[in-house]
Amino acid sequence: MGSPDSGEEIVNECAIWETLRTNGKSDAVKVRETLAKAREAKGLEPSEVAVLSAISDPDLTFELFAAARSVKEKIYGRRLVLFAPLYVSNLCGNECLYCAFRARNKDVERRALSMGEIEREVKVLVEQGHKRVLLVAGEAYPNRGFDYILDAIAVIYRTRIGRGEIRRVNVNIAPLSVEEFRRLKGAGIGTYQLFQETYHRETYANVHVGGRKRDYDWRLAAMDRAMEAGIDDVGIGVLFGLFDWRFEILALMQHIGHLERKYGVGPHTISVPRLEPATGSDLASHPPKPVNDADFRKIVAILRLAVPYTGIIMSTRETPNLRRETFALGVSQISAGSRTNPGGYSTDEEEDAGQFSLGDHRPLDEVVRDITILGYIPSFCTACYRLGRTGHDFMDLAKPGEIKNRCDPNALATFLEYLLDYASPATREAGEKLIEETLAAMPEVQREPAMKMLAKVREGKRDVFF
Ligand code: SAM
Ligand code: SF4
Repeated sequence: MGSPDSGEEIVNECAIWETLRTNGKSDAVKVRETLAKAREAKGLEPSEVAVLSAISDPDLTFELFAAARSVKEKIYGRRLVLFAPLYVSNLCGNECLYCAFRARNKDVERRALSMGEIEREVKVLVEQGHKRVLLVAGEAYPNRGFDYILDAIAVIYRTRIGRGEIRRVNVNIAPLSVEEFRRLKGAGIGTYQLFQETYHRETYANVHVGGRKRDYDWRLAAMDRAMEAGIDDVGIGVLFGLFDWRFEILALMQHIGHLERKYGVGPHTISVPRLEPATGSDLASHPPKPVNDADFRKIVAILRLAVPYTGIIMSTRETPNLRRETFALGVSQISAGSRTNPGGYSTDEEEDAGQFSLGDHRPLDEVVRDITILGYIPSFCTACYRLGRTGHDFMDLAKPGEIKNRCDPNALATFLEYLLDYASPATREAGEKLIEETLAAMPEVQREPAMKMLAKVREGKRDVFF
């Protein structure tokens, strides 16, 4: 696949500043032209992203949000995919000044779950109704080294309880070599997720002061190595609050452009974590460049318009209210019922043992009921990855809009599974009503397969998808 790119070839800071300088002044005419193009759902150029990032006028902000809503609805309909993070270990050799797991922090008890403990955690998640987990770990593994992660993935996939199991394991772990990425792919992962934290080199150096993570370029080129190893669903992200968000979203655009040019496919997802307070971290309580709620909504809306086919992930770092608002603006996947301390699902430890503080503490059932009442279809679907619809193949189906005909029926079938097997009576009632309304409003091409799949689920069949 050619020689590795230097960091500057992936992210060019001078070009970002120049784009912001020439396009970053509020200009109503340019904004409206850009929004008209954005509504076609074909994506935006970096210069257009800069134009939108300069919006401050309330009327233009309203128009930005309206455009984002329409693109979100066009591509994702009313679906919201649900997952839970599974923290297996908080051992870490790095010194990221914002994170409770940083090596020198003595306020957190260190723990790497045994395979038996991981199984116990998975059982709790399956019994709540989860089908997707995001495995998370610090950058230091116990005795078996990286094989610890591979063993953990195997345990997650083979754990079954009642009628349920985890059907897709995504991972968020430190950057690997190509050879290690090949082994990770061999373990059957869904998405490999890694956040650059900040694309701004100087800030990166200031907040990563020890351990392997200091190497900005090794981290930046991780997605190239993953792609070279055959992992074609990758998830990128920025930890908002470390540096100027306008710079960061343009850097994200450059990273995406690089992956598209080199591998023919961009990232499967973008995550938008905001810095939250963390035990033993002054920096986390005083973000150098805090992003307020108003700008945070803009970030989600702009990303939705810039890369319409890339999923946007919203975690439980944010409060229920802000999460609700951003669903309409572009978020397509959310975590729910999360714990960020290893063993947190099967024990009742204090939350401050977690990686950072959470904004949404509600259990999965409550989140499902809430989004159902708001009219969103909670989806536990894992069909694409199970049918090999990843990378190019996914985008080939997604871009002409064909994927929607499969996603809606698949979402309803997995939602009904959840309602029948795990939901509280109140959630089941709200869910059945939403399924009925959704079927009634569906075009015939979707309704027929959806009705068949729902009938199978009601007859007792599980894991029905197409
Ligand atoms: N250790 C690996 C790494 O750093 O990439 C993977 C796991 S790390 C626990 C996952 C992510 O948590 C980091 O990429 C970072 O963005 C996020 N994180 C760390 N501290 C945080 C904080 N105080 N608030 C919000 N997110 C935080
Ligand atoms: Fe370790 Fe990741 Fe936390 Fe940094 S962000 S201290 S690498 S767990």
